[in-house]
Amino acid sequence: MFGFLKQVGDYSREAAAAARGMTQGLAVTFDHMRRRPVTVQYPYEKLIPSERYRGRIHFELDKCIACEVCVRVCPINLPVVDWVMNKETRKKQLKNYSIDFGVCIFCGNCVEYCPTNCLSMTEEYELAAFDRHSLNFDNVALGRLPTSVTMDPSVQPLRELAYLPKGVVDPHGVPDQERRAGRLPHEK
Ligand code: SF4
Ligand code: SF4
Repeated sequence: MFGFLKQVGDYSREAAAAARGMTQGLAVTFDHMRRRPVTVQYPYEKLIPSERYRGRIHFELDKCIACEVCVRVCPINLPVVDWVMNKETRKKQLKNYSIDFGVCIFCGNCVEYCPTNCLSMTEEYELAAFDRHSLNFDNVALGRLPTSVTMDPSVQPLRELAYLPKGVVDPHGVPDQERRAGRLPHEK
């Protein structure tokens, strides 16, 4: 008799624990049903990168004076500045410039300290490649400007989800002039 009562007690305790677990799980489910969707149908839809996004570096060859400041401020001495001394003009002549994006940590130091502003960070983040050596960009590859998400006709640009108007759940198709809940970086 005592053994039977113990079994019933154990069973009741386990059933109560299971019910508690199920309630907690459903509470999370119901809580998420009221939240905004954060799914972006990439690559058909893309979020517009933020204004200060540090993406692939753009380089302007004609502005570079081969001073190598970018190499000195880089935490891993990454940019390769290939130059020769022009004996006639007695000035450095840039032959090639390259940055390996397989190694770069996108800290932006080189961009910040370049005295002639020939480096800038773009919004390009799609750098996946099958061969890591193809991520070593020379001055030609670095000089290419990326296609902006808002200018690409094959992509539906989505505004940053954080800046959706108050009460709006669906980020798709919200008009640009709609008042936003959050403030953009340029709005004081
Ligand atoms: S700091 Fe700027 S100007 Fe100097 S070598 Fe680097 S990219 Fe060229
Ligand atoms: S972004 Fe940083 S890591 Fe990359 S090249 Fe410039 S300084 Fe070096």
